Amino acid sequence: MSWKVAIIGSKGRMGEALIASAQKLGIEVVGAVDQGDDPAPAIEACDAVIDFSFHSVTPQISKIAAANEKPLVIGTTGHSPEERESILSNTSYIPIVWAGNFSTGVNILFYLTRKAAEATGPDFQPEVIEMHHRHKVDAPSGTAEGLIKEIRAARNTSEDQIQHGRQGITGERPIEQIGVHALRGGSVVGEHTVMLVSDNERIELTHKAGDRTIFADGAMKAANWALGKPAGLYEMLDVLGLND
Ligand code: NAD
Repeated sequence: MSWKVAIIGSKGRMGEALIASAQKLGIEVVGAVDQGDDPAPAIEACDAVIDFSFHSVTPQISKIAAANEKPLVIGTTGHSPEERESILSNTSYIPIVWAGNFSTGVNILFYLTRKAAEATGPDFQPEVIEMHHRHKVDAPSGTAEGLIKEIRAARNTSEDQIQHGRQGITGERPIEQIGVHALRGGSVVGEHTVMLVSDNERIELTHKAGDRTIFADGAMKAANWALGKPAGLYEMLDVLGLND
């Protein structure tokens, strides 16, 4: 790997991990961009852009990346539907690898979740549980959203069947429902469990992240993969060759 990267959100927790990962892999950081910096010169000078900043920042970054024909890796989560639409409009011009979680293990969890949800059917009701550090400002996590997407694809579940938490007299659980629960506290990097629960047995698929390095290394792998790829929207599953 010998190429140049621009990192957006460079002073954040992930930004620091990305700079360390680039140094470890021998990738040159030509732009470390944070709040108050002009991202354009860094994007012009790089081969690929990696954004782990704030949801409202990504639309502008994707526009500048598209204008300069630079591949973009998006790790930032919490985008509004309008922000998503604005970012997606640039997939006609550049390859964008967009993932709620760049760890290899979590992407294998996505794959296993889809296969398990397909193989079981409605007798096994899905619940998704995630836990993160107390500083996280959005819920559920981008990874939990990805797990919900896999279950919905396998089960053809409609949006209104997604149940975020439960409180009070909730009524019986509809079998097609996907329950989603967000736990917060301490310095937990990220933990996700998908349960598929039937009357007499329960499958639990769990991933626990030990360190932010896994996301940073995965994002670097994705950016390297995206160099020279045709314009379009890609996931980490594409990078890992698991999108069957
Ligand atoms: P953080 O708050 O520590 O860092 C965010 C950084 O972005 C800060 O330094 C902030 O100053 C900077 N920023 C804000 N506005 C900016 C702007 N206009 N231009 C440039 N930089 C700007 O957060 P974090 O823990 O590093 O996470 C960043 C994002 O990445 C979050 O959305 C988080 O959910 C996501 N994340 C994704 C993955 C993944 O694998 N996809 C993994 C971890 C975190």
